[in-house]
Amino acid sequence: MGERIIELMNTVVENDFCIGCGVCASLKDSPLTMKLDQFGKYRPFLNENMQQRDLEVNALTVCPFSSDSKNETEIGKELFGHNEKTSFNKYTGYYIKNYVGHVKEGEYREKGSSGGMANWISAQLLNKKLVDAVIHVKSVNNSNQVLFKYQISHSESELYNGAKSRYYPIEMSQVIKLVKENKGKYAIVGIPCFIKSIRLLADQDKEVKERIKYFIGLVCGHLKSDMFAKSIGWELGIEPEKLKSIDFRKKLEGRLAYDYGVEVEGEKNGKDVVLGAPSRELYTTNWGHGLFKYNACEFCDDVLAETADVTLGDAWLPEYSIDSKGTNVIVVRNPVIQKIFEESKEDKVHIEEISPEKVFESQAGGFRHRRDGLSYRLYLKDKNNEWRPKKRVLPSDKHSNKRKKIYAKRAVLSQESFKAYKIAEKQKDFKAFINHMDYIIEDYNKTVAPSYLSKVLRKVRKKVNRLVKQ
Ligand SMILES: Cc1cc2nc3c(=O)[nH]c(=O)nc-3n(C[C@H](O)[C@H](O)[C@H](O)COP(=O)(O)OP(=O)(O)OC[C@H]3O[C@@H](n4cnc5c(N)ncnc54)[C@H](O)[C@@H]3O)c2cc1C
Ligand code: SF4
Ligand code: SF4
Repeated sequence: MGERIIELMNTVVENDFCIGCGVCASLKDSPLTMKLDQFGKYRPFLNENMQQRDLEVNALTVCPFSSDSKNETEIGKELFGHNEKTSFNKYTGYYIKNYVGHVKEGEYREKGSSGGMANWISAQLLNKKLVDAVIHVKSVNNSNQVLFKYQISHSESELYNGAKSRYYPIEMSQVIKLVKENKGKYAIVGIPCFIKSIRLLADQDKEVKERIKYFIGLVCGHLKSDMFAKSIGWELGIEPEKLKSIDFRKKLEGRLAYDYGVEVEGEKNGKDVVLGAPSRELYTTNWGHGLFKYNACEFCDDVLAETADVTLGDAWLPEYSIDSKGTNVIVVRNPVIQKIFEESKEDKVHIEEISPEKVFESQAGGFRHRRDGLSYRLYLKDKNNEWRPKKRVLPSDKHSNKRKKIYAKRAVLSQESFKAYKIAEKQKDFKAFINHMDYIIEDYNKTVAPSYLSKVLRKVRKKVNRLVKQ
């Protein structure tokens, strides 16, 4: 086995910075195989009895969390920086235009998580023959306990089956091998770190570069271990091994867009059942708590998939959240995609141009945790002399005591959720999970609650604003 693989394992994987993208395991002659670990997260495992040899591609240069790979700004500049219509913003990365919007034609919006744009733009690339197939994440019908994986769609109807967000572990080693075995033009849909790793691979692998033509990014808060899906089913009465499918984003008519539901299918008391609940009523679904989060996500600064040709997310802005049908935030970087939006804006999609500042606002919480919070987490790693990847954000401890406490307690919440799940598994009782987590969640909620002074200030500010407007 090559020295670089050993270094990758000793740095990224051993220190829990691996996001499980699977690119290292897809390399020719790689001694690695992607498997779910005991906490339901993908990571590479060394195959036994592998021969000692270096790989053609240096694994350290394609891993999104190694210190030897290019960062998102460097990749973005090479891809998009030469276009005179492109601007740069430190949050959105390079962009031509930003929009909010939704799909008007077909059932893309109804079937999608948000405004349906991710699936619609994939379909446009197919219909215009710009690609032969789209690589994205769909449900798996055999019941070997893996509910979703990367698969390839060749038609609009196949795409429809793959709509919606999967807050679930996925990896790409198998699908990359499929692309290398099958000629054609592909588009890929992915979260920011996955898009980055394929861009890094394409830099060194001619076949991948020639075949994967378009990169469709999703805005990303963080990725969840499979314990997230299982815990939702379990709380609703379906034991983890009896869970057959899950819809993480069921739109609830008449409610705010972020007040969506979840729906699970599985076996309860020997019978097949479909059960659902509003997401906010469930124990593990508060995204701010970050339960079952991959540790790598704590060290990621790319919220808006800066290396993608186009990025789609939710427009979490008050003026759009009132519509339960869902509205996308959109960042366009590739002129071909820009042209598709321009041509379709009369009848097929509704889009309104917005500023990069407004895009930032739609993801303000995510940016605070992943830029401001990251600088503190990097500071702590350096202070403890622990290995960590190079980031665009610099380490710093210039935060208020309150923010430092919030960041520290968030890390504990996430780490303890894995332990609590294991305890519940052993006791075969979801209540054991709640018993372990209750105090930790309560303590965190107290820390984030606004102080008396800030509540008073907020009220005064509101009153002043009202007087000014009169
Ligand atoms: C892990 C994760 C975290 C996210 N965090 C945020 C966030 O913090 N803020 C925000 O605004 N948006 C976030 N999103 C994006 C959001 O959930 C929607 O996916 C996005 O708004 C696109 O909606 P749509 O209706 O246009 O997509 P749809 O038309 O429903 O299409 C979704 C497409 O994404 C593919 N897909 C689903 N899950 C995955 C996955 N895990 N990896 C790769 N491809 C996938 C589907 O196969 C489909 O092609 C996240 C998505 C994921 C998967
Ligand atoms: S992040 Fe991806 S490339 Fe890096 S070690 Fe993990 S699976 Fe391999
Ligand atoms: S937060 Fe970053 S590292 Fe985590 S899944 Fe999203 S893009 Fe990847």
